Amino acid sequence: MREIIIISGKGGTGKTSLTGAFAHLASDKVICDLDVDAPDLHLLLQPTKERLEQFYSGHEARIDGEKCDGCGLCASLCQYGAIRENGAGFAVDPRRCEGCKVCVAFCPAAAIEFPEKHCGQWYVSATRFGPLVHAQLFPGAENSGRLVMVLKQQARELAKARGADLVLCDGAPGIGCPVISSLSGAHLAVAVTEPTPSGRHDLERVAALCRHFQTALAVIINKYDLNPDETARIVVFCQDESYPVLARLPHDPLVTKAMIQGLVVTELPESDFSRELRQAWSRIEALAGLGR
Ligand code: SF4
Ligand code: SF4
Repeated sequence: MREIIIISGKGGTGKTSLTGAFAHLASDKVICDLDVDAPDLHLLLQPTKERLEQFYSGHEARIDGEKCDGCGLCASLCQYGAIRENGAGFAVDPRRCEGCKVCVAFCPAAAIEFPEKHCGQWYVSATRFGPLVHAQLFPGAENSGRLVMVLKQQARELAKARGADLVLCDGAPGIGCPVISSLSGAHLAVAVTEPTPSGRHDLERVAALCRHFQTALAVIINKYDLNPDETARIVVFCQDESYPVLARLPHDPLVTKAMIQGLVVTELPESDFSRELRQAWSRIEALAGLGR
């Protein structure tokens, strides 16, 4: 089984649109949306949820008002200012609680519970391109890196159970914790970049990350025609570092047109853009060692 992840140095490069198109072109795969902080692959794939699981990570303090005698010790000990007197008694602000457990340990009335923190939900869904493993973190919830690991594990198990030979992942943008978790175990990362100085800088950072984790990297330059000089610089960078440039995709309103219809661009009638994408996907399959 191979694992391919589509990444970008920042959001808004067209990463998810291209992942959706690759999900259409790939045969025999499980799709996985690892962009857990801002998932949007579901907007293109319109999944039907078949399994729903809760995601818990870390712990949070919760004061039992029946047991609390109002001494205020917990509020004075909490370094994060998470415990306040609200008129009805002392209460924990879950957005501020870091789960350090100090208040729990020192409460003289043993009035503070310490349950697991409910951070979000994850799903296995059916889509027109095959099964999708995805998630939704609650606003402000952390530990997206751990959720990424949960999703990857589920996607791998599902692929194994179905005899699928590919897990195709939409990664998080940037170089933070979710991306690092996403890269673990991937056979190929495909970075989608735009021809701007910041796009090139972001690509260099993503490339450094892939090098560090020894993940093979290939590059797609999206909207290459908006800035031919920057495109040339990105190509030189890729040549110097031996990263294959899989495609130079033009700025094409077809992508938005497809999105408005809830489709991916390769579902529209054949175009130069979709032909270029099909070629890119063939090269991705070859680089990832699919079909050998
Ligand atoms: S330390 Fe315990 S008893 Fe005192 S205010 Fe906090 S929760 Fe209530
Ligand atoms: S667990 Fe730590 S951070 Fe959370 S309320 Fe208690 S002392 Fe504050």
